[in-house]
Amino acid sequence: MNDRTALVTGANKGIGKEIARQLAAEGLTVYVGSRDAERGRRAVEEIGGDARPMVLDVTDADSIATAAARLDRLDILVNNAGIMVGGSTAPEADLEDFRRTYETNVFGVLAVTNAFLPALRRSDAPRIVNVSSGTGSLTWSADPEHQFAVSAGSGAAYRSSKTALNALTLYTAQALASEGFKVNALAPGLRRTDLNARAAGSDGDPAEGAAGAGRLALLPDTGPTGGFFSWDGTPAPW
Ligand code: NDP
Repeated sequence: MNDRTALVTGANKGIGKEIARQLAAEGLTVYVGSRDAERGRRAVEEIGGDARPMVLDVTDADSIATAAARLDRLDILVNNAGIMVGGSTAPEADLEDFRRTYETNVFGVLAVTNAFLPALRRSDAPRIVNVSSGTGSLTWSADPEHQFAVSAGSGAAYRSSKTALNALTLYTAQALASEGFKVNALAPGLRRTDLNARAAGSDGDPAEGAAGAGRLALLPDTGPTGGFFSWDGTPAPW
């Protein structure tokens, strides 16, 4: 299985770069998605192993098509690229925050998964990992005892985009289950990155969250599909 190939979107920094580093250290060929070519090349040098740059803007149809045309076969797709903009709450929403956020966090994942599906179908053990967020859990958000119920700091646009991503994860898993796909969503935990540097409690090591993605990316054939998991492998509530 050492000839496996992975693609991690948004892998020039943050959690995505750590996911790429960990998969490369496992001996996989890893395409390091980056919307900026130069930053992607620099990340590849830091990641080491058989890491290769791939220019990929998940909101740009031409960029996605060009990237997808490079790969005949893909074993692992990690939809990691994500943004958090604005902080509006649902009743006073800035619709532009919602549109921008959904464009990357929801439509971007749909478009990338769709484009790489033919290559994934040529894998003997296709895996898709969608990097979601615990803040997208409706169960946790509705639980008055849970931190996500009281801290709406990350905003309704971001949180609901991850709820939508969770739903898409389940539907994709159901649609592809008979073809041997494992499709799961990950809550990587609060991690110190550019996206979350100023969030309260965000002192976590990105590598720890990335390990959760690596576990789902390397699932055996007996592993779960259509699930939502925390970084430590425990099931997270939808
Ligand atoms: P970073 O901001 O550090 O990294 C985000 C990555 O996504 C960057 O590489 C960024 O590229 C890329 N990206 C953004 N928009 C696009 C696009 N249109 N096309 C391609 N790449 C894009 O954030 P994190 O590492 O923290 O976030 C990674 C994932 O983890 C996200 O999905 C996030 O929602 C999720 N997450 C993070 C948590 C945390 O606490 N940090 C908690 C829960 C979930 P560029 O450098 O060009 O901007």
